[in-house]
Parts: sequence; structure tokens; C-alpha cells
Amino acid sequence: MSNGFQIFKKEAELIQNEYPGLKLDADEMTNAPCLSGIIQLESENGDVIDRYKLKIVAIPEYPTRFPYVFETEGRIPLNIDWHVYPNDGHCCISSFPEEILTCKKGINLRDFIENHLKPYLFSQKYREDNGFFLLERAHGVKGNVQFFIDAFKTNDLILIVNGLRFIKKRKEPNRVSLCFCESGQKFRNCHRETYRMLSIFSDHEIEFFINMIVRYGYASSLINTLL
Ligand SMILES: [Zn+2]
Ligand SMILES: [Zn+2]
Repeated sequence: MSNGFQIFKKEAELIQNEYPGLKLDADEMTNAPCLSGIIQLESENGDVIDRYKLKIVAIPEYPTRFPYVFETEGRIPLNIDWHVYPNDGHCCISSFPEEILTCKKGINLRDFIENHLKPYLFSQKYREDNGFFLLERAHGVKGNVQFFIDAFKTNDLILIVNGLRFIKKRKEPNRVSLCFCESGQKFRNCHRETYRMLSIFSDHEIEFFINMIVRYGYASSLINTLL
């Protein structure tokens, strides 16, 4: 059994009594360990307000990637507009860079269920009740780029790419230096938090995201000239 499967299984055994609706099983398709059954959503005062039937399936990359979650009652449409990957039907719990960042800080199954899966389900329920997501997030590359737009607090993709290149040099400026973004502000008052948050990414990952943003920027500027 792959290492990721073993870690998943061990953690699943540890939390089983906290989630009586979930049963540790082997996925019938892949034979991977999985938790299947009911997750309850509770209000702030602990009342159960809804429940989703689903299975959480281990992947070999766990815990450097999220396990796969499948909603199994056909309640969430298999559609990117609903943050579900239509090819295999697993849920798009968060953007790719956010998932990598979260996993690098270290996750376990309880943390995944409480801080990532449940917010995703709450957001699905909100959409079902109201017709739109409370916090709109784009799917796919656009959502991945949005992560960096939020992190750098700017829409300027050139600034973001230059910022990522700067982070990849691994030389954090001292407190009184001016920020790399050329705002004229001191680094500590400007992009220091962004710098530290994104420094967790490996060189390889930063390079991957730079290429992604450049391709996205190029494609959207082409589209703009065509419109
Ligand atoms: Zn998505
Ligand atoms: Zn700055």
C-alpha cells in the first residue's frame, strides 16, 4: 500500500469516533482507503442544519495534496460552475496554489474536514439556497491566478510575476528596505506578509506559477485585442 494510503488510513482510524456518520472502507473503483457516509453541517450553536452524503478517497500524494471528495447523492451538479471536476466528479475544494500552500503547512484529515471540506459544503449549500456563491471564486487557471491577485493585492500581473521572481531569489529584504514592488513603501509595510506566505513554495512551484500567470496574461490580452 502506498505511503499516502497508509497515512490516510491511520488518520481515518483515529478520527472515526468523531465522525460516526463516516465509515472507513476501500473504494470499489481504486481500492484506495476511503471514508464514506454522512458529514453533518452545524450552525454556530451546534444545531445540525444539513448533511451531505459523500466519500473522501485517499490518493497516493496525500498529505501533500488533498484527498479526493465525491458527493454521492447527485446533489452537487458535475459542473465546473459548481466547482466539481466533470471528468471524474471530484470536488474542487480550493484553488491549486491554495491547496499546495495548505498542505505544505501540514494537514491531517480532521483539519481537512473541518477547515476545507465543511466550508466547501457550506458554500455549496448557500449556492443551492440562494442561487449564487457567497464568495465567488473562479474555477481552474483563472481561480489559480486569482489566488495570486489576492495574495499580492493587485491586478497587475507583471507586478505579480516580478514579485514571484523576487521571492525565488530567496533573499528577504531587511526591515527598512523599500519594497520590491516599487511602491516606494517600506518592505515591512508593503509586501512582507505576501513574501513570507509565498516563500513556502519551492523554486519549481514558483516557476510553474510564473509560467501559468504569463500564459494566462498572454491569453487574456490576446482575447482583449480580439473583442
Ligand atoms: Zn473550482
Ligand atoms: Zn510592495
